[in-house]
Amino acid sequence: MAQNLKFISGVVPPAERSKPAWWFVFQQSKLLVYQEPPSAILPCLVDIEESGLTALSKHYLGRLDNRPCYTAEVAEGTVPPAGMTFEGLRRLYGSLDEDLFWIAARAVQIVDWDRTHRFCGRCGVPLNRKTTERAKECPQCCLLYFPRLAPAIIVLVQRGNQLLLARSRHFMEGMYSALAGFVEPGESLEEAVVREVREEVGIEVKDIHYFASQPWPFPHSLMIGFTATYAGGEISLNDGEIENAGWFEVDRLPQIPGKISIARKLIDWFIEKQERTG
Ligand SMILES: [Zn+2]
Repeated sequence: MAQNLKFISGVVPPAERSKPAWWFVFQQSKLLVYQEPPSAILPCLVDIEESGLTALSKHYLGRLDNRPCYTAEVAEGTVPPAGMTFEGLRRLYGSLDEDLFWIAARAVQIVDWDRTHRFCGRCGVPLNRKTTERAKECPQCCLLYFPRLAPAIIVLVQRGNQLLLARSRHFMEGMYSALAGFVEPGESLEEAVVREVREEVGIEVKDIHYFASQPWPFPHSLMIGFTATYAGGEISLNDGEIENAGWFEVDRLPQIPGKISIARKLIDWFIEKQERTG
């Protein structure tokens, strides 16, 4: 699931800076790429400033196939170099190399964290970046700030040959997906699964099993996928978040999310399981 085992994460950049590196350059949350339809190509340079851009900040990310990877932020309104554009990350799925896409998904979160964590929330003084770990520290009270990560569960509920899909108000027209929600402080992942399904559709579940996880950088979630089995109740939409929900058989599915998402991988897993068992 979005596994990138070739990428080795790191914080301390190599001492030697003469080799070309992948540069993940963001203007807000948009990534700088060469557009060569149907592909998008990432700049590979010793330093991004070679391309004439001025970086507000730079971070070393790690290595992909022994090539260093860096991320940088440029100011709003910066004009991209000739032949290049700033492109939204979601739109690059499928046109950017998949390994690079998932590194970009890390990079955008680091740049966002850097931009939004400049001052200590306790004393208001500017933070210092730590050189040996991905953290910032307050020089006055020593409070540490790490990149934000919000765990969220997503669960595919099964009942015989049917699965439970729901549509949230802010989904694209006609699209249904598995139920998902943020984990609350003090809650286990399994408790979050039970609560979300109960709150959103009034259904009780059992046999909760871990499926897979996926970083979801829009803006800083970690999706933790589960399967579960129906244990009781009738669908009732209580919390105003869900517009419609229902039990679907695999040959009568509504519109479902694209292949980038763990929701789709859960649904595809169920479809394959149904096909195997008839
Ligand atoms: Zn402080």
